[in-house]
Amino acid sequence: MIKLHDKYFKPFISTQEIDDAVTRMANDVANDLGDEIPVFIGILNGSFMFVSDFVKQYPKPCEVTFIKLASYEGVKSSEDIQRLIGLTQDLTGRTVVILEDIIDTGNTLHEVHRIFKNEGVKQLLIATLFYKPEAYKKDFKLHYVGKEIPNKFIVGYGLDYDGLGRDLPEVYQLKTTQHMTNIVLFGPPGAGKGTQANFLKEKYNLVHISTGDVFRFNIKNETALGVLAKSYMDKGHLVPDQVTIDMLEAEVEKNADAEGFIFDGFPRTNAQAKALDELMNSKDSQINGMLALDVEDEVLVERLMERGKTSGRKDDSDEGIIRNRIKVYYDETAILEEYYTEQNKYFGVDGIGSIEEITERLCNAIDKL
Ligand code: AMP
Repeated sequence: MIKLHDKYFKPFISTQEIDDAVTRMANDVANDLGDEIPVFIGILNGSFMFVSDFVKQYPKPCEVTFIKLASYEGVKSSEDIQRLIGLTQDLTGRTVVILEDIIDTGNTLHEVHRIFKNEGVKQLLIATLFYKPEAYKKDFKLHYVGKEIPNKFIVGYGLDYDGLGRDLPEVYQLKTTQHMTNIVLFGPPGAGKGTQANFLKEKYNLVHISTGDVFRFNIKNETALGVLAKSYMDKGHLVPDQVTIDMLEAEVEKNADAEGFIFDGFPRTNAQAKALDELMNSKDSQINGMLALDVEDEVLVERLMERGKTSGRKDDSDEGIIRNRIKVYYDETAILEEYYTEQNKYFGVDGIGSIEEITERLCNAIDKL
């Protein structure tokens, strides 16, 4: 995800997809024009990248020039299109191919047709890399279309939002849902995730989802999910991925208006981490960072045994089960450090100290996200 001015944009069309569409268009035009040398006319500013890549792929001799017409302001296509600048060449009897980055309402195209009516060209062909059929209000034929896209605002590959984004090599789409801050609180059992989540959720106005708590709630209420989860939890094993993922998704859906989430105890496996990324993606959002509390094993055992005296949790009162939970963490969950490090989203935080000290360390890390 990227931010341009005040708006967020998510990846939409990759460089590979663009490349494929441009190559296909160049070959289609070349096949149709035979030995004729066309004049390609790019419409500035947006088409500069497309024209550059298109003529590099065009397998035969051609001429290239640019004109400037449209003024787009902000995200709205402006109604009053400015006058043509830059057409100095005599095009009488020539085959002209207009190269447009995008055709939405068709207003620019209307102006192009009006101007070229008097130029005496042999034929005027229109080639556009992107086309929004839902927005198009004119009848002019589009001879070559790279890719049809929905009627959403896009930037990149020559297209801008208020001047920014033209330089991006791929295309991004405007994110219309609200921006969220999503944090994974990570660490072995007893690291203090739940305690810290309670402070962080207040400070940052986030919804705290602890998968362990949701399972325990289900166990208490003797739901089918609770009965299933109990058989794993009592031994200190992980509940199967799909069960956990479905439950997590349901919890996120219940909080559709949240400004963001603290995930505590989730993800615990690679499959869960991937599912979480997909879920966030479907909400036009992402995980901003994983904050990992580092605490030595012996301190963990001590803390959990202490907690077991009052928590009533079976998995907190037996040293064997506690050690097994810590082992499961290192065997199955700790690998997620790598998953988030690869995305530059892993932040280790010292988990030894007073509750306030640790909260402060976590807040410092969150404020930098
Ligand atoms: P916790 O309260 O986070 O220590 O979790 C208690 C127990 O709930 C764990 O030992 C697992 O049996 C189960 N559990 C919680 N979260 C998950 C998860 N993401 N994946 C699988 N099992 C989980």
